[in-house]
Amino acid sequence: MKLFAILGDPVSHSRSPLMHNSVFKNLHVDACYTRVHLKDGSKLKETFFNLGLSGANVTVPHKEAAFNACDEVRGFAKKIGVVNTLINENGKLIGYNTDADGFMYAIASFFNIKNILIIGAGGTAKALANKFAEENLHVEVLNRSKGRLTYFKELGITTHTWENIQTKKYDLVVNTTSAGLSDNEYPAPLEILEPLISTCKFCADAIYGKVTPFLQLAKRYEKISKDGADMLLGQGVLANALFIENQFSHDVIKKNMEKSFLL
Ligand code: NDP
Repeated sequence: MKLFAILGDPVSHSRSPLMHNSVFKNLHVDACYTRVHLKDGSKLKETFFNLGLSGANVTVPHKEAAFNACDEVRGFAKKIGVVNTLINENGKLIGYNTDADGFMYAIASFFNIKNILIIGAGGTAKALANKFAEENLHVEVLNRSKGRLTYFKELGITTHTWENIQTKKYDLVVNTTSAGLSDNEYPAPLEILEPLISTCKFCADAIYGKVTPFLQLAKRYEKISKDGADMLLGQGVLANALFIENQFSHDVIKKNMEKSFLL
């Protein structure tokens, strides 16, 4: 039996085990998916091989450590330096990123999006900003602190801090911060957020499983909005296809993964 896991800190509330095990069980794949609470990102590779894993997902705060731990990084992950999916390929650790495509899947029903503001400047923001730029969408980034904005400036992306943002109309505002994940915080002060949200068309949050203060505000202004559940599903389908070496189509994986959302 092949063993897969999600590695992160925290991981106790992750839905990934339910999602992947639902696919394995329904499609009779001889595999099992568990969760591993990993505090020290520098132990990622050692932990992966000591547990005899065939593959894994990586979550906060180890996605950049995962990139550094890989023997080879493929595709989009190489461009952004952020890995969320690991595969054991003949004893070598191979890294991929499925988050950005997962997010594009999630917002497929949003229309006429040309102009996007990402709030946050961590691994998820990097993945989304690069993906939006690849799709020729105009993207800007707002972050609480300055340090992490350097990466985006070097890509030619307009960046803002709470101190210097000017109100402007965006089609889509995305929260990629962890504000609201285990607290009740807004990702930016209300006097900044309210004009941004009241004038935008759509809002999306990467956080799933709860209505964050950011999403509550979007609902107050009657915006079409989404939490991170569809992004989770989208990235999970792509990761699972890598785990089972494309034995089944994305549609079949998705149908069987969705069943876990009913549990
Ligand atoms: P990182 O740790 O890389 O980045 C976190 C970002 O959040 C930083 O920009 C940080 O700002 C900002 N931040 C943290 N706390 C606050 C706060 N209280 N107020 C304002 N800004 C804050 O995280 P990731 O990018 O890996 O993940 C971000 C979120 O996205 C997590 O909640 C994660 O669960 C979710 N996620 C969901 C996925 C899904 O499938 N639905 C997939 C991937 C991620 P600063 O630089 O100032 O510290």
